[in-house]
Amino acid sequence: MDFVVENGILGLSIADEHIAVMVKNIAASGINETGGVLIGYYTADNLRAVVCEVSDPPEDSRSGRYWFKRGIKGLKLLLNKAWKEKHYYLGEWHFHPLGTATPSSQDLTQMHEIANSHSYNCPEAIMIIIAGSAKRYVVKPFLTDRRSGLTKPMNVVNN
Ligand SMILES: [Zn+2]
Repeated sequence: MDFVVENGILGLSIADEHIAVMVKNIAASGINETGGVLIGYYTADNLRAVVCEVSDPPEDSRSGRYWFKRGIKGLKLLLNKAWKEKHYYLGEWHFHPLGTATPSSQDLTQMHEIANSHSYNCPEAIMIIIAGSAKRYVVKPFLTDRRSGLTKPMNVVNN
């Protein structure tokens, strides 16, 4: 699946196998939220982010029906390993069980924090929301820009 920002500045590519990782996790989490991080790279023209890995929820993650707090256990190792292949932290994904793929105010706050955080070093933070259930789901990516502070939906590109 390919996505692009409405204004055409940044696109996102994510393969079905990575979406399958999310679906596997939402099947396991049932009516509770779940999530993880997105790892990948930006193309040389900086026009597209390519997802190379979707993580499972770290072991120390906690969640409920309407909230998810991603843990950090094992994440540093995962990112160090990715870094050797020039792959980096791109953002987050999480699940809205039986809900809509619309970011909550908490989601927007989190994305803003990540885009402004030096430790994440991710000025354009991507958030993928997968909503529904493992049987029937929608996947929607959003992009938060550090400079403008705005979060915009990214759209599907047919190719
Ligand atoms: Zn959310």
